[in-house]
Amino acid sequence: MHQMSDIYNFNAGPAVLPKEVLRQAQEELLDYEGSGMSIMEASHRGAEYAAVHDEAQSNFRKLLSVSDDYAVLLLQGGASHQFAMIPMNFLGEGQTADYALSGSWAKKAAAEAKSVGQVHIAADTDKDRPTRVPSLDALDLTDGAAYLHLTSNETISGAQWKAYPECDSPLVADMSSDVLSRTLDISKFGIIYAGAQKNMGPAGVTTIVIRKDLVERGAKELPSVLRYQTHVDSDSLSNTPPCFSIYVVCLVTRWVLAKGGVSAIEKWNEEKAAALYSAIDSTEFYSGAADPAHRSLMNVTFNLPTPELEAQFAKEAGDAGLKGLKGHRSVGGLRASIYNAFPREGIDALLAFMADFEKRNG
Ligand code: PMP
Repeated sequence: MHQMSDIYNFNAGPAVLPKEVLRQAQEELLDYEGSGMSIMEASHRGAEYAAVHDEAQSNFRKLLSVSDDYAVLLLQGGASHQFAMIPMNFLGEGQTADYALSGSWAKKAAAEAKSVGQVHIAADTDKDRPTRVPSLDALDLTDGAAYLHLTSNETISGAQWKAYPECDSPLVADMSSDVLSRTLDISKFGIIYAGAQKNMGPAGVTTIVIRKDLVERGAKELPSVLRYQTHVDSDSLSNTPPCFSIYVVCLVTRWVLAKGGVSAIEKWNEEKAAALYSAIDSTEFYSGAADPAHRSLMNVTFNLPTPELEAQFAKEAGDAGLKGLKGHRSVGGLRASIYNAFPREGIDALLAFMADFEKRNG
């Protein structure tokens, strides 16, 4: 039998999943709970899938203490689809939506909104180096804005919001790369959304938590598939959901609950990131790409003295089983994505590799 190679997966997304979850998915792949078929083959209207669909949502609600004032949706189209759906539903004629720009993903979200309506850039730190997110007191907010949008964690640059603005308009956050990685007061938000493929499961499903009173205010003239109301009314079953992705999300959320929930995972994430940042800070050879006050716990971005050394580092690390460390093509450098499921031993392996690489090349 093929022997599974031992590697550590630092990919930014799709990303590492808990081994226990993958094993369970494998074990029940051909015969889901004695049904004689795979969950992939089960009807999305049948009892087996219904239980999975409900549990994925209720686990998510439990993990973030989501109250009944909010709907939890599981939709297709990725986080990018939400970039468009949010303004289509909530940015009406004569209204302005505020966008806080902190990097590539926030910019993409704003660009989509501009194709729908009036956008005001409340702050822009995209070009700041070291990379950072806007200061709360520097936000230039529009009176009566339709909403304020931000990206809680910039996956590419590695900058993360550590506190959120208080504002009168609904706060909308793309949490694709840090959802379920740290505790959150959901009541401060009108909408949060996150593609699954970093902290929750495989690509194909996006989780949206949306305040029900907002849903009711959404544009009525849109095609039904683009209206949040349609998906709230049908419990995300207005058309065939990405059943298998949601099944894995169900297993991953169960795994987070078994680990002690988000606060336990957060502590673990803090320890993993701190070990890495402290190694980066302890030498001149490595330098962190993000402002220390804004450093992401999920995507640790760093540089070496030259792009050539960075390329060599990524190559040699890959050969040594530390996969996916090359930074995003738009910014270069190196990036260690260390989501919830990334094991502590992988951090230790990277620390050992970094020390050795510096010894040989520093
Ligand atoms: N927002 C953030 C913060 C992301 O990291 C990504 C994907 N890397 C996206 C949005 C886009 O997600 P999707 O590919 O699911 O549309």
